Amino acid sequence: MVQAYKHESLTNFKADENKRAFEEALALVDGYLGQDYPLIIGGEEVTTEEKIVSTSPSNKEIIIGRVSKANKDLAEKAMQEALKAFKTWSKTKPEVRADVLFKAASIIRRRKHEFSALMVREAGKPWNEADADTAEAIDFLEYYGRQMLKLKDGQPVLSRPDEYNRYDYIPLGVGVIISPWNFPFAIMAGTCVAAVVTGNTVLLKPASTTPVVSAKFVEVMIEAGLPAGVINYVPGSGAEVGDYLVDHPSTRFISFTGSREVGVRIYERASKVHEGQKWLKRVIAEMGGKDTIVVDSEADLELAAKSIVASAFGFAGQKCSACSRAVIVEDVYDEVLNRAVELTKELTVGDTGDLTNFMGPVIDAGAFKKITDYIEIGKEEGRIVAGGGSDDSKGYFIEPTIIADLSPDARIMKEEIFGPVVAFCKARDFDEAIDIANNTDYGLTGAVITRNRAHQEKAREDFHVGNLYFNRGCTGAIVGYQPFGGFNMSGTDSKAGGPDYLLLHMQAKTTSEAY
Ligand code: GLU
Repeated sequence: MVQAYKHESLTNFKADENKRAFEEALALVDGYLGQDYPLIIGGEEVTTEEKIVSTSPSNKEIIIGRVSKANKDLAEKAMQEALKAFKTWSKTKPEVRADVLFKAASIIRRRKHEFSALMVREAGKPWNEADADTAEAIDFLEYYGRQMLKLKDGQPVLSRPDEYNRYDYIPLGVGVIISPWNFPFAIMAGTCVAAVVTGNTVLLKPASTTPVVSAKFVEVMIEAGLPAGVINYVPGSGAEVGDYLVDHPSTRFISFTGSREVGVRIYERASKVHEGQKWLKRVIAEMGGKDTIVVDSEADLELAAKSIVASAFGFAGQKCSACSRAVIVEDVYDEVLNRAVELTKELTVGDTGDLTNFMGPVIDAGAFKKITDYIEIGKEEGRIVAGGGSDDSKGYFIEPTIIADLSPDARIMKEEIFGPVVAFCKARDFDEAIDIANNTDYGLTGAVITRNRAHQEKAREDFHVGNLYFNRGCTGAIVGYQPFGGFNMSGTDSKAGGPDYLLLHMQAKTTSEAY
């Protein structure tokens, strides 16, 4: 009997033994930095001349690893292996598929700090954020394994006398998993194993900035007993390998997490039916956000300021759930803004190998340029009241930045920045605050800080986001507790870590027997 699911607890780094254990994990990871990693195609290691070189965003000189790079030919080979493996994996008992996930969770739990330490180095995550990322990866394995056990016998349907009706779920086929760098472990592993536990086989193309975490994850899945060809590891360029696989007539579905721009491109390309294709491809897309914390005049203002700062600057704002706008009712605007500025000025920025740094770098040169350009726009549109500075001499560091007094239609209020920048905007009253909160193309997360129950209920109905939080920040959804996914241009509202997520990877088959 499988025990009930419960989320993985987070590590308390104030305890000396945990701190020491994490330092050892950092040393372990540092001992293998710079290694080469092969592609895995049909269970075979394939090494290519051309490599993706993963470097540390905290220090551009440090090479995390050199990962082989797939091209069209290798992607095609991987597709053939995935098709072949589908024949047996799709018929493997759901219990056996779930067991592979449970074993993988257990292996990762034993190596928890190592995975987190790797993300400190490869993604520039602070310890606590990396620890949460690893915990979430474990949660996805444990949760989806159990969800599969729930769905394995289908759903009940009615039968009349003299007939026997059944409603079962069967796998789809070969899926392409295109995963992001901001949750290089949790989202990569979660999207991958949701597809695999439901009986599909996959081609995993991780983000090129964080391919080493995923190489290590694939090793764990193999150790846990996953047969050859079920996960094929094919990092490569989006324009070459990504497009090729999205267009491929044998691709049955695509599970993508990343930018709106790439998500829309995949959605459009996937809609074209290619020669030899026998189905309409399914797209699961988790894209951007422009997430708002609304502060009411009747509210705990200290909680408001803390929630804004934590949600805006945790992992340097590089979460699609991050708070990038604070919309505050005018009579408490100055107080919340001033307190948020005070709290922000206390934050330390630097290499996250050092536990005392609250915030690390942004992921790469492209992100650095985009974010610093937005800070310049912010100077024109509003008033910089905290941060604004940046330094890319060694790594890609940007100060946590607050831009105040923006109009609801400012670019800084509407466009996704994906960095440590939060926009403050004043609203006349609570109704107007909700209108402003809804004025973007996105609809991912939001939070409302209020003591007014009627206002809370208004927000529950009218604040149009997939994840709405009351009296807390807007990041940190937990698998199985707060299923995560958004509306409008935030994606297909596929709720990761939720009870219906696995269904997106299956199709229902009705059978009816006459007696
Ligand atoms: N699930 C994460 C959270 O709730 C965000 C995921 C993302 O940024 O893609 O904060």
